[in-house]
Amino acid sequence: MPAASPIPETRAEKLARLKPLVLKGAALRSRRRRTENLRLAVQLASLAVVLWIGYRFVAWVGRLEAGDLDSARPPGVEGFLPISSLISLRHWFESGEFSRVHPAGLVILLLAIGTGVLLKKAFCSWICPVGIVSESLASVGRRLFRRRVKLPRGLDYPLRSLKYLLLAFFAYSIFVVMTPGEIVTFLHSPYNKVADVKMMLFFAHLTSFALKVLAVLVVLSVVVPYFWCRFLCPYGALLGLLSLASPLKITRTASQCIDCALCAKACPAGIGVDRAQRVRSDECTGCLSCVAACPVPTALQMETPTRWRRVVRPTVFAGLVVALFYGGIQVAKIAGYWKTEITNEEFARRVGEIDDPKYHHGRGEIEPYGPED
Ligand code: SF4
Ligand code: SF4
Repeated sequence: MPAASPIPETRAEKLARLKPLVLKGAALRSRRRRTENLRLAVQLASLAVVLWIGYRFVAWVGRLEAGDLDSARPPGVEGFLPISSLISLRHWFESGEFSRVHPAGLVILLLAIGTGVLLKKAFCSWICPVGIVSESLASVGRRLFRRRVKLPRGLDYPLRSLKYLLLAFFAYSIFVVMTPGEIVTFLHSPYNKVADVKMMLFFAHLTSFALKVLAVLVVLSVVVPYFWCRFLCPYGALLGLLSLASPLKITRTASQCIDCALCAKACPAGIGVDRAQRVRSDECTGCLSCVAACPVPTALQMETPTRWRRVVRPTVFAGLVVALFYGGIQVAKIAGYWKTEITNEEFARRVGEIDDPKYHHGRGEIEPYGPED
């Protein structure tokens, strides 16, 4: 005789069973605040590191210009040269040589890729300085409009594809169009060698057009939360694609879920967490806002694949993000993959002649440069 199938639990029975587990009021708020504060602490620490690097870099350029060749350049500034880093990545794949022109940039790119593959897009929501700025602008918008503005799906989907188009453009240009010779020439070009100084000068002397573009992005980020991250950032697009492979995913246990939809309401990426079993979306940044908002602590968690089902608590997840990214930087420093081969003498010479046409962007044209360049 076939075994009788179990009678499905009614919603009322489920709510009665879970009632003792459901957090309410102060208990739920305190659980939420703990996770939010944990992430905010990591974000603020990362922002402080970036500001400190920026301050030291500006001071270093000033000292070079004043003839002081003994001050140290902060290599972390190369994190702001993602295209140069992507070109170094191709060179590394192709030749096995880890370019020493901007090695820290390549290390940072590799560590961001590593977090993407292992820990979802945690780089975006825990480490990236643009991420915390976007969140602050989004919270200004929430206060102004007293709600989270959501674009209609018909607009949201095509806009989200823009960042993938930008990523495809860069990947095609670097991995398909450029020849190996052009890759080497670019890496050792005068333009690339002082790309960090040129970036600093760009921000120090913003043109009115650049200012207008920045202002438009700020306004759009207030009106439409995470406008830059969600629609335009090719770095985020790359991490989003890689994050599909991440073994850790937000996982909902249906038998523990009371269908309150608080998780979906809290999700800044607009993911329907309350309907998913495992959140596989490329938009999930591992911010844990959904986990923090869930009133049943066992219903929604960051978990390893279903066959092992190990819960990764927020503090452990934060520890993994910090250990992987900042620990990776320490390993690169010890292994000698952090500091540039360019000497302060060479930097001083190049900074002195930075208005020379050989430091202008090639706009796709890569001229071969001689050893004296
Ligand atoms: S699903 Fe959860 S962890 Fe992922 S983005 Fe949404 S709130 Fe953050
Ligand atoms: S998983 Fe989402 S819908 Fe289910 S109880 Fe938690 S917050 Fe509510």
